[in-house]
Amino acid sequence: MVYINENFNKLTPSYLFATVAEKRAAYEAANPQAKVISLGIGDVTQPLCPAVIQAMQKAVQEMGQPETFQGYGPYQGYDFLIEAILANDYAPRGVQLGKDEIFVSDGSKSDSGNIGDLFSPTAVVAVSDPVYPVYIDANLLAGRTVRRLPCSEADGFCPAPPHWHADIICLCSPNNPTGAVFSKQQLAAWVAYAQQEKAVILYDAAYKAFITNPALPQSIYEIPGAETCAIEFCSFSKTAGFTGTRCAWAVVPKALQAQQADGASVSLNELWYRRQSTKFNGAPYIVQRGAVAIYTPEGQKQVQETIAYYLQNAKIIREALLSLGFECTGGENSPYIWLKTPSGQTSWQFFDLLLNELNIVGTPGSGFGEQGEGYFRLTAFASRQATEEAAQRFRAYFGR
Ligand SMILES: *Cc1c(COP(=O)(O)O)cnc(C)c1O
Repeated sequence: MVYINENFNKLTPSYLFATVAEKRAAYEAANPQAKVISLGIGDVTQPLCPAVIQAMQKAVQEMGQPETFQGYGPYQGYDFLIEAILANDYAPRGVQLGKDEIFVSDGSKSDSGNIGDLFSPTAVVAVSDPVYPVYIDANLLAGRTVRRLPCSEADGFCPAPPHWHADIICLCSPNNPTGAVFSKQQLAAWVAYAQQEKAVILYDAAYKAFITNPALPQSIYEIPGAETCAIEFCSFSKTAGFTGTRCAWAVVPKALQAQQADGASVSLNELWYRRQSTKFNGAPYIVQRGAVAIYTPEGQKQVQETIAYYLQNAKIIREALLSLGFECTGGENSPYIWLKTPSGQTSWQFFDLLLNELNIVGTPGSGFGEQGEGYFRLTAFASRQATEEAAQRFRAYFGR
């Protein structure tokens, strides 16, 4: 029999969301009258906006006519989408990138996993703790050593560069799960570290559309020098409700070099093009047509309205928590609220309390890493009505 990739045995099984679902189902079975509110899921709930729907319907019609039919598209994505990304996401922030530095894909999760194909299995990877688990598991599968950067209230859950060497650094801002957002100064320290250590930063900006504070960076390339040491991942998933539709992009600058065993330097842009053209045949035409529609004036307005809706939900939860004396990060410039559990409860004790006493489901922070113990994640993706009801339940219970 064939031997498997033994690195699968290094993955720790994740029972987090399965246990959450089991506990909720057991409670609901025992208490059929209870109205349980979920502030647990990390998925958007508002439907695709009309501009996107219309653009995709038109694209479907085009696919049905011989004159407008599209077969395999360009590996890096259609020019119409890449040009819109450059003009809207980067140029207004003073970031100049070339069309061949953008790679459209079917998702940031696949990109952040697949990018590992470019690097040696001996590269040392640094990830924050708490963390989005994909970064750890994808690197363990490739046989790489993963080291944690412990985050805490003291650093506002924005870790500073360590005193040890890393080759690859995974950063996520606005952060899932903590809602923390790096300032330009904090990111500049990471860029300086990466240049010093000749490391590569993998920057996950999936939630950048939630940044409303103009002083906060939406792209790592707003930091001078980042084009020599950073790859950026962006996605239409949280920006425009594409979690089920699937469209994202990666930026791999041409100025970004790594080395091969003989010391010669190699362009990561060229390697990523080779990797994508070998294993990927592009994101669907219909989906890319839908994605580009968010950059039209109507599309912008519709997408902004949905983001504002989630941000208002976040504000409602955050303000209720703060008024009750909870400590929390996020909930501003982010759809996630990360709270410290009261009176030293573990994350799971607090989960049980919220479920049993308030009929609210959230996500235990310990599921995102050791440093998440004693913390809890709430999300802004529920309906306004459910969010207000949840805030009311918090006030009624913890305001006593
Ligand atoms: C949701 C999310 C993404 C987006 O992933 P897609 O595959 O593009 O849907 C990326 N990173 C983080 C941390 C996320 O939470």
